Amino acid sequence: MDGSHGDRDRSFALAERANALMRDYGPSAAPRSYAVWYAYVSGTQPLLNDALKSLTAASSRLTDGDIDTLYETYLDPTRLSVATERASTSVLSEIAGVMEVLDLSLGSAAQYNASLRTLARDLDGTNPNQASVHKVVAALVATTREVTANNRTLEARMRESRSEIEALRETLEATRLESLTDPLTGLSNRKHFEDSLCKLVHGASEAEPASLIVIDVDSFKRFNDVYGHITGDQVLRLVAVVMREHIKSGAILARFGGEEFAMLLPATNRAKAYAIAETVRTSVMARELVKRSTGESLGKITISLGVAMHRPGDTAVSLLERADQCMFKAKRDGRNRTVDDTDVNLSNVA
Ligand code: GH3
Ligand code: MG
Ligand code: MG
Repeated sequence: MDGSHGDRDRSFALAERANALMRDYGPSAAPRSYAVWYAYVSGTQPLLNDALKSLTAASSRLTDGDIDTLYETYLDPTRLSVATERASTSVLSEIAGVMEVLDLSLGSAAQYNASLRTLARDLDGTNPNQASVHKVVAALVATTREVTANNRTLEARMRESRSEIEALRETLEATRLESLTDPLTGLSNRKHFEDSLCKLVHGASEAEPASLIVIDVDSFKRFNDVYGHITGDQVLRLVAVVMREHIKSGAILARFGGEEFAMLLPATNRAKAYAIAETVRTSVMARELVKRSTGESLGKITISLGVAMHRPGDTAVSLLERADQCMFKAKRDGRNRTVDDTDVNLSNVA
């Protein structure tokens, strides 16, 4: 179990760095503060790191309030459900507000209608002379003025509700996207990958076959052992950047495991998917990795890729299994290569 020992040693090394930073920047070693600084040194949440860097640039000491905000925004495991809960409650209260305005508006229209009817009756009932017409017109003008003022108030309230509902819609959308995104790379997370793979399989037709590329970083455990987890994470980000450079519209890119990625390609046949896979592979290999802090060269990394094209009768699971088997064959054949599922007997080989 070399790997777990390596991870254990790394976790103590990260704890020491977190500890040193807590002493320098504070505010304390309380659990929340530790969680924030540990996440910072392990680099798992780039957005938290950006926020922390701007706080420490502005002031040499963090406050408990800063830590609470960072923790609640980036780390609290319940943050998404809390945000959703908060937004849903606000939506409900906005709906109640709109209903009230609608009730008032309906009431006001009914009242106006009743006033008009009364005035019409008054006119019918008398022999209209100048004085009675004058009286009715004056009453009409007064009622209309009242209704207009009322409408203006209702309109202002509706406008207010509208902009609040719009802001809530944006909050809900941001929360929804966050719940589908891998924070390290910004690609889709496993949940979104699984949902999208089901959609890809449902949407695939013989005329427009869909393909799936599965990518696994080669000898990544050794890379982590030699250069550390944080530098390893930078490699994962680099693979994501290269994948993004070769995205086609409609494709979905995901990190669905630790160092496992996928490209879901609707309306892409095997040959086209293979070409995309090869472009990603050669582009990753062409990047020279440099350690940011020291400028030290870390050499190059390579990836192995499996390509499977949708076949009639495929499910999300069978398509993923075939792409995985191709990727494993690429590993067995020596790594840094792409294998596709042209060979129908592949499953017997794996
Ligand atoms: P192979 O070429 O056969 O794929 O070898 P490998 O070492 O890449 O394969 P293996 O699956 O044994 O190891 C995967 C390693 O990926 C284990 C773990 O250290 C590393 N890893 C998984 N998730 C993360 C992550 O989020 N960050 C970092 N830095 N490393 C990760
Ligand atoms: Mg792996
Ligand atoms: Mg690997």
